[in-house]
Amino acid sequence: MNVPQILTNATPWTLDHDHAVHPWVNFGAFERDGSLVLTRGEGCHVWDAAGTRYFDAIGGMWCTNVGLGRAEMAQAMADQAMKLAYTNYFCDVTSDTTALLAGKLAALAPGDLNRVFFTTGGSTAVETAIRTVAYYHHCKGNPQKTGIVARENSYHGSTYLTQSVGKRNGDRVEEFRYQSEGIYHLSSPYLYRRPAHLTEAQFCDQLIAEFEALIAREGADRIGGFIAEPIQASGGIIVPPAGYLQRMWEVCQRHDILFIADEVVTSFGRLGHWFASWDEFGVMPDMIATAKGLTSGYVPLGALLLSDRIWAVMAEGGQRWFTTGFTYSGHPVSCAVALKNIEIMEREDLLGNAARVGAYFETRLAELSALPLVGDVRGRKLMLCVESVADKESKALLPDEANESKRISATAEAMGLMVRPLGHLNVMSPALTITEGQVDFVVETLGKAIARVTDDLV
Ligand code: PLP
Repeated sequence: MNVPQILTNATPWTLDHDHAVHPWVNFGAFERDGSLVLTRGEGCHVWDAAGTRYFDAIGGMWCTNVGLGRAEMAQAMADQAMKLAYTNYFCDVTSDTTALLAGKLAALAPGDLNRVFFTTGGSTAVETAIRTVAYYHHCKGNPQKTGIVARENSYHGSTYLTQSVGKRNGDRVEEFRYQSEGIYHLSSPYLYRRPAHLTEAQFCDQLIAEFEALIAREGADRIGGFIAEPIQASGGIIVPPAGYLQRMWEVCQRHDILFIADEVVTSFGRLGHWFASWDEFGVMPDMIATAKGLTSGYVPLGALLLSDRIWAVMAEGGQRWFTTGFTYSGHPVSCAVALKNIEIMEREDLLGNAARVGAYFETRLAELSALPLVGDVRGRKLMLCVESVADKESKALLPDEANESKRISATAEAMGLMVRPLGHLNVMSPALTITEGQVDFVVETLGKAIARVTDDLV
């Protein structure tokens, strides 16, 4: 075989450095440092090209829920690829495997979320949800009811529309363009950084009042949907005040505003449930977007679950077309992997493990709040973070140049632990297979890394 010239003196590191464009890359840092090249994974561990082992407390990107290196996942992939690698899913064709997964998801989903629209990942699931808002209200004779209400500190994906709807600090670089018409952003339910004079309950009241005021100002006839991650993930592991989501849902119901739960991160066990909206927060969404843990990251797949009520409106009269979809919607190989993934979660009671070990993780991680640099430790089950501050009392942040979360992650990495730096946070979302012993390692190593970085800062 002729080896292309480009490969003769190259290593994966140089090939990546010289040719790859990564999502969310900082060009300067990439030029200087390149990438960490990983070559193998097993359970919660990954190995780099030099053979160094790391405990991956990030879970890939919130997604390696059943853990890496499962032979039966690979086998499910291979079997389906041999049996039927692809089928067109448009209009009225499907595969037996895709149909089985649709039924399984309808069975696992809460309430009457019995309809499944398959997508290629989280962004395309959320994008479809947002477009379905307009579709649904149009069918009901309210074509102007298209406005979408989202929150600050939200992330809903990286398509043009989903990135316009999401809004995290610092994401909106001026080089890109965003849609703003018909998109509204409310305050984030960021309890730790609420106005100092408010109690949790008062803060919640204020957030609900802000939503009501927006509806009064813009008109309920122009607002079609509200989208929320039950716990804001990459916006900062923001667990809302008690009762907040239920009350936002009540407001939505009163104004025929569809409630979209973006459960791309919170579903498939991360909080110990198949879906967190109902089981953790008591909210019955009109639509749930899921991805990531649906296949544990082994292959790309997303899904939008729709209520029977929405389906009935869209399908009424039998004359309309739902003109949206993707070549890889309902991909049989992805669906086979998702079915195997769910089977493993059921067989090994991984949701139970996530709930039990997650509760232990919460307790152990809370110990780090004694460290001078740690302002807040928060999250639930296997979705946790520490937030660094310059001053615990005022909650003032360190200057951006301090770069403390990146330094903490780098220091932890040198000790064999991967945690994700995100603004002033270090975030963890490990595989659901994590043990209490592994939690001890994560907490102790992270604690040491924070202490070392603190020493360097002074
Ligand atoms: N929604 C949430 C809450 C996410 O965290 C993400 C990705 O991290 C997405 C949507 C987008 O998913 P994807 O990257 O699969 O398109």
